[in-house]
Amino acid sequence: MNLVCLDLEGVLVPEIWIAVAEKTGRPELRRTTRDEPDYDKLMRYRLELLDKHGITLPHIQEVIGSLRPLEGALEFMTWLRARTQVIILSDTFEQFAAPLMKQLGWPTLLCHELIVAPTGRITGYQLRMADQKRRAVEALRGLNYHIVAAGDSHNDLSMLLAANHGILFRPTDAFAAANPTLPVTRDHAALRKEIEKVLK
Ligand SMILES: [Mg+2]
Repeated sequence: MNLVCLDLEGVLVPEIWIAVAEKTGRPELRRTTRDEPDYDKLMRYRLELLDKHGITLPHIQEVIGSLRPLEGALEFMTWLRARTQVIILSDTFEQFAAPLMKQLGWPTLLCHELIVAPTGRITGYQLRMADQKRRAVEALRGLNYHIVAAGDSHNDLSMLLAANHGILFRPTDAFAAANPTLPVTRDHAALRKEIEKVLK
């Protein structure tokens, strides 16, 4: 039986932190896992910046509420969920994801959680576990699922390599070149074709 694991940001929805950087006028918040592979370092940098500029969770949720899924993402998800089982594996946080999950028809999402003070200040974050994308794929393979995974960035690599078939979606040229065994797709039509090819 097949199961498809998808990254969220950069595959189905825009990069949330880049949108926050643009809408809050704080370009330093543009750093993503594409720029800083060490996720903990990246998050500590982001939370320090939020604090410094007094940006709270309600501010960020307002920004996220104005985001839309990437063009073609909803149609792609509708097709995929009718075709097979789908789980989104993301390093975002439950508090950030909800407005976007609603627009995608509430697919299953496994991610992390922010720690938030009553004032709305984000004081920290709770990773459910380290390397959770890979661990999820391995656990699902242990349940005898045939896993196809797609993602765009450093934090997807262990998941893509642990899957039966890993697929890159709009990676940087450098990331694609560093991982020549993974097929590269640039739009949802190509991703759909690549998934169809490897579904059993
Ligand atoms: Mg991504």
